[in-house]
Amino acid sequence: MQMVDFEFRKELIKDDFSLNYCYQCGTCSSSCPVAFITNGEYNPRKIIEQSLLGLKDLLLKDQKPNVWLCCTCQMCVEECPQNVFLTEIFERIKNKIVLLGEPYPETFKMQAKSIIENGLAIPLTQPIIRRRDQLGLPNVESADISELKKLLDATDFEKKIKILEESK
Ligand code: SF4
Ligand code: SF4
Repeated sequence: MQMVDFEFRKELIKDDFSLNYCYQCGTCSSSCPVAFITNGEYNPRKIIEQSLLGLKDLLLKDQKPNVWLCCTCQMCVEECPQNVFLTEIFERIKNKIVLLGEPYPETFKMQAKSIIENGLAIPLTQPIIRRRDQLGLPNVESADISELKKLLDATDFEKKIKILEESK
């Protein structure tokens, strides 16, 4: 059984004060498409509960439920009666996982590298371009790499990615 870590709880509330407003109604989980397709194995309400209890190891090491499964569709945020910014809270938790050098899905690392190199999280491949063309969708513009680099430098983005590589 994991102990309540009040310092960690305070840290998460300081990161995003809306966490404090959660009264555990479960609306977020009942509106979450990922919770639906995983038969409740992924459960945003539970992640918020663990955050309120400061269950640091469960959130950052065990990752149960796995916060990386959130697809940031924002359904929970729209439905939450208490205006809890779940996705912001989850982003903070993900950042902490990365900075601690705990494992996270390889696909996110690939996307991070792609942003640095191409200005897009998912590089445009010929099949993607062809499909978009067939559907009459406009071209996807890449971000200006030099402007992007300034933003990434300001947020220590590459440093965080390196921490991960070294921890492997
Ligand atoms: S919907 Fe909002 S108040 Fe209800 S459990 Fe989820 S985060 Fe908490
Ligand atoms: S943003 Fe994440 S937690 Fe919220 S409904 Fe979408 S997948 Fe579920």
